[in-house]
Amino acid sequence: EAPPAPLRVFFIPFFATGHMIPLVDIARLFAARGVDSTVLVTPANAALIQATVDAAADSGLPIRTLIYPFPSSESGLPPGVENISALPPSESYKIDVATPFVRPAHDRLLRLHRPDAVVADVHFPWTTFVARDLGVPRFTFQALGLFPVCMMNSLFTNLPHLAVAGDDVPFLVPNLPHPIHMVRRELPDFLRGNTQIGAAMDDIGAAESGSLGVVVNSFVEMESAYAEYYYKTCNMRSWFVGPVALAAAGQGSSLATRGGDDPIAAANRARCLSWLDAKEPKSVVYVCFGSWSQFTGEQLREMALGLEVAGHPFLWVVRDGGDEWMPEGFEQRVEGRGLVVRGWAPQVAILAHAAVGGFVTHCGWNSVLEGVSAGLPMVTWPLSTEQFMNEKLVVGVLRVGVRAAEGPGSTLEEEKAVVDAAELARAVGRVMDSGEEAEGMKRRARESGKTARAAVKEGGSSHKGLSDLIEEIRAWHTFSHPSSKM
Ligand code: UDP
Repeated sequence: EAPPAPLRVFFIPFFATGHMIPLVDIARLFAARGVDSTVLVTPANAALIQATVDAAADSGLPIRTLIYPFPSSESGLPPGVENISALPPSESYKIDVATPFVRPAHDRLLRLHRPDAVVADVHFPWTTFVARDLGVPRFTFQALGLFPVCMMNSLFTNLPHLAVAGDDVPFLVPNLPHPIHMVRRELPDFLRGNTQIGAAMDDIGAAESGSLGVVVNSFVEMESAYAEYYYKTCNMRSWFVGPVALAAAGQGSSLATRGGDDPIAAANRARCLSWLDAKEPKSVVYVCFGSWSQFTGEQLREMALGLEVAGHPFLWVVRDGGDEWMPEGFEQRVEGRGLVVRGWAPQVAILAHAAVGGFVTHCGWNSVLEGVSAGLPMVTWPLSTEQFMNEKLVVGVLRVGVRAAEGPGSTLEEEKAVVDAAELARAVGRVMDSGEEAEGMKRRARESGKTARAAVKEGGSSHKGLSDLIEEIRAWHTFSHPSSKM
């Protein structure tokens, strides 16, 4: 008798690098288990992931991209609105304006190809309704762990930030497994009264209740209390399949192309790794703020002086163009000790390098998870969106990091205070130097890293999470196609 046809799953990543990288990794993991995987992507974004997908396909995995035109000629949208990383932060709102325009293409392609399941980013709520029409399950991908998702849920439901008298007055985020405090300044705009986004969130909420559950890039050991909270409070199931950067590393595609397919990224990879090879174990601080955050010249200057004063070797990824901000004589003074990298750096490979001992991070979810996976203590420097929530996990719950600067942060450009060189140097010292506090953080970070690596191995919790998810899809398929039952 012929074996059953493979399951076919469509993956639809949102147009932000930090959302695309992990969902493409998840598609590769599905393909490695024999699931026929298709990634729906727009032309400009395809350029970011095509090499990764091709490498996986060349190694024999059943995976491909399916490119849909966007912006369509009738949308009237300017080019460049389809990847948040290509927009200056002040224009990132354009993504929210552009997103609804992809709905017809999603609808059409899903109805045409009729996959057995859809794993779509939380920004595409309509995929729930198409999936329901087709009688197939839709799973949500948030590009976040459950910790920040539960925090947002509590904030939305309980509105504790509206009960305090000022932006710097701490309040408790109610009913969470840990007592977490925040100040209003740390909240994303949509929680601070941007009603347009608030309304979009309501739509998302309505669609999510029709989604079968969430696929989480995290491992349950790090967030088990939150998985339970999520199930009880939101009545939503979750499947933990991460850290996907670790899991996908073994799946036939080198990390070299992960998220950075251009020649500059390839050159940076060779340069960074050979530079690290010459450094002492655990001696280097790696400094990177994700795929799209930017700083003022004034802040970059303080950062340079801070890294210089801290005295440890550093590898610093600078996304901003120009170098007017560079302090006089900086490059000569730090020569050999500091490497400033422009453009895309091979972050996962850097974090895994034996010479790296600490990570200064903006606390994007992927970066947090990659830092945890590498077993590194962190200096946290959240800048916007849910990064302040992720920071609470690193500093308050896992206790593997310290803040770059004390005092309230802010998500609003005009409220952002400059972190001065001395503050940054002090924070770097607190994680890199020896002493009781640093040793404690390093020990806990190593333990978390070990647990993360075990989770993605055969028999580990996330390995099993993926098996369970695929079985769930197979069960739906068998139920709706009884003739294919063996
Ligand atoms: N990244 C990288 N090289 C860079 C900058 C970023 O490889 O120079 C990767 C990083 O490893 C992570 C992702 O890009 O997987 C950034 O996602 P994150 O959630 O940390 O931040 P975002 O870019 O969404 O703010």
